[in-house]
Formats: sequence, C-alpha cells, structure tokens
Amino acid sequence: MKRWWFLAATAVLAGHALAQLSEPEQRIVAAVKERSPAALQLLERSVRINSGTLNPDGVRAVGEIYRAELEALGFTTHWVEMPPAMKRAGHLVATHPGTAGKRVLLLGHLDTVFEQGSSVPLWEVRGERVRGQGVSDMKGGDVIMIEALRALKAVGVLDPAQIEVMFTGDEERTGSPLETARAEMVAMGKRADYALSFEGSNRYNGVDTASIARRSSGGWVLHVKGKPAHSMGVFSARSGYGAIYETARILNAFREQVIEPSLTFNPGLIAGGTDISYAEGTATASAFGKSNVIARDAQVLGDLRYLSPEQGERARQKMQAIVSSGNLPGTSASITFKENYPPMPPTEAGRRLVEVYSKASQDAGLGRIDVLDPALRGAGDVQFVAPYTVGIDGLGAAGTGAHTDDEDLEIASIERGAIRAALFIYRLTRS
Ligand SMILES: [Zn+2]
Repeated sequence: MKRWWFLAATAVLAGHALAQLSEPEQRIVAAVKERSPAALQLLERSVRINSGTLNPDGVRAVGEIYRAELEALGFTTHWVEMPPAMKRAGHLVATHPGTAGKRVLLLGHLDTVFEQGSSVPLWEVRGERVRGQGVSDMKGGDVIMIEALRALKAVGVLDPAQIEVMFTGDEERTGSPLETARAEMVAMGKRADYALSFEGSNRYNGVDTASIARRSSGGWVLHVKGKPAHSMGVFSARSGYGAIYETARILNAFREQVIEPSLTFNPGLIAGGTDISYAEGTATASAFGKSNVIARDAQVLGDLRYLSPEQGERARQKMQAIVSSGNLPGTSASITFKENYPPMPPTEAGRRLVEVYSKASQDAGLGRIDVLDPALRGAGDVQFVAPYTVGIDGLGAAGTGAHTDDEDLEIASIERGAIRAALFIYRLTRS
C-alpha cells in the first residue's frame, strides 16, 4: 500500500516536471538520453588523443573527430589556418545555414594544458567519474555541445536554426599576435545574437551556475633602477636608497592605494640585486648581489584582472602614478602593461539570457542555474566576443581540478549538460 502510494506520487511528480516541456522538447530530452553511452565513447575518443596547445597535430586530430560529427548533422566546416610562425593548429569553424530565429554562436576549444609527455593519464574511469587530460576543460563541454545539436537534428528541429560553431585550437596558450589569433572569432561574434560557451560548469553553494561576466587577464612588468654603491652610504643623498627599497615602496603603495572590489593584481615573481635576468621560457629569474652593495636593478612580474575596461584603466593610471612619482632618492622606475583577454562586464541582457537557460533547466527537472561570481572564474574565449554580442559561459561538464594532475569529470554531467543546452538552443533559435 505504502509502496503503491510512493510510486503514484513519483509518477505525478515526473509528469508534472515533463509537463513544462512541449512535445518536441520532450523528444529532445529522450534523444539526448538515448545517446548517453555513445556520448561517453565520443568523449573517450577525443580525450585519448593528446592535444596540448603546442601539439598542433593532436589538436587537429581532435578537431577532425568533431568535424565529422558536425558534418553529419548538416554543418559545413572549414579550418581557419594560422600563420606558420604562430605555431598553432588553427581553429575549426562549422556553420549551419538556417534562415529563421536568432543567430547563435557556440564556442569550444580543442586544446588542453597537458602537453605531450605529460604524466597525467589520457583516460582513466573511476566509478562515476573519469580522470584525464582535458576531460572537463573542455572536451566534456565540446561533446555536450555536439550531443545537444545531434538531439535537435534527431527530432527534426535543427533545420531552420542559424548556428555557427567555433572550436579554437589555442585557448590555453593563445597564439600571438592576438588580433590574428582571434580575428575570425570576433567576426563571428559580430554576426551573432548570442554566444554560448561550453567551458566547465561550476557548482556553487549546491546550485549549478553560469557566467555572464569574466575578468580580464593580463599582466605588468615593473623595472626599477638604483645607483650601485657601498651599502654604508645607503639613505644618503649621494648614494640613494637602491632599487630594492624603491620596489618595496611601489608594491606597498599598490596594496594601499589600488585595491577595490573585483580588481586583483598579484606580484608573482621578484628579483633584485646588482645584476638580474629573467628567462621567459622557463619563468625563471636569477640575481647576483651582495648585502654590502646597494641594489642597482629590480624587476617584478605581476598579473592584473578587472571586470570592466573603466576599472582596468583606473587601475593602470593609479599604478602608473605610483611608479612615476614619489621615487626614493637615487632611484627611477617604469611599468608596462599587457592585456591578453579583454574584460567581460556583467550586463542586464546577460542576466536575462541566464534566466532563459535556468528556465530550460528547471523545466527539464534539472534545477535552477545561478549567475556565478566572476571572481570565482579565470579568463576564457567568450570574452573576445563579449563586446559584440550577449555571451554566457559555463554550459560545459562538471568536474574538478581543471589544469591539474587530478582534472576529472562527473560522467552524468554530460547528459545533464546536453539536455539543458539542447533545450536552451532550441528555445533561443525559435525566438
Ligand atoms: Zn578551457
């Protein structure tokens, strides 16, 4: 009796959840679920190929796997070649030539941070999870995207949709110059109404999240000069304070005067002494100096992350002012800045887009989606298109330890992500 009641109640609840979905949407969900074992196999095939950013052959091979899948769904594809000097694989672009509804751009990347010779196993299933190179960052998300599109195709609703896909080959170490490496993506962003990026999804406070804002990524280099002299003269007008004291003044002033919410800057390496050098390839500094000689040279490498162009400009101006005025006697300093990823500030349109995504997830019985605090996420490709379209990130797989030896993925998050993405894309391309 009790058991009967429980089953009946479960059936009513399930019926209620599905009632939020239209008839084609229910078929979309069924199509994703039917493919789940095959989706895991597709993920395994693409993860078993090393595709470290500096292994262009591997990156291409992964791209060929996805290319075949997308062509089978009616996409036309091509490779965007990069100049040979850039030493990058280029990008895979796929276009679905629909005529109706909103134009949607889908973003993934083929490369991983794990270069050839990495000790991390390519693929290692551990119960409900799988550990491996790039499983959650972001081949899991790439497969979610493809499976979502496949489900739309399977139920016959893909045909009118205007969808473009870009899988970049150098997300983890973007090729230089940046303007060349991201030119095609920017052009695609300009003709899209929405950009959906499938980087790993984050769970925060027990709720799945998506990102509508991501902070810039870039850095600065501080060079400081002093007069080399015997240490007994330090603090005197003739000998001055030396490069190391001046560096300490500057860094302390940064900390006291530049900090504000959503802004961070971290000095990650410092070298000072009589002679210093820095090797970029190995990120290694060396210094020669003696305690009885006033330091002649100092150098600091730092990063800088901000949420809007205005915030970045404000931070750079304050830092520049600290560096170029108030210098201790006998010292001088200069600072240079570099921006790799532009900031993606939060917008009202972005918030509304997450509401559509969240509604699709809830209607499928998969819970709501919250907006993730941008302080909790690094930089990503979606930032390059953010100035031209409405972007959202974090539609990918759920995992832990991205970029570390323990990067893994919750296998069930592939199906969950594909259902959410399929319904989301379906609703967007119908609107
Ligand atoms: Zn990534």
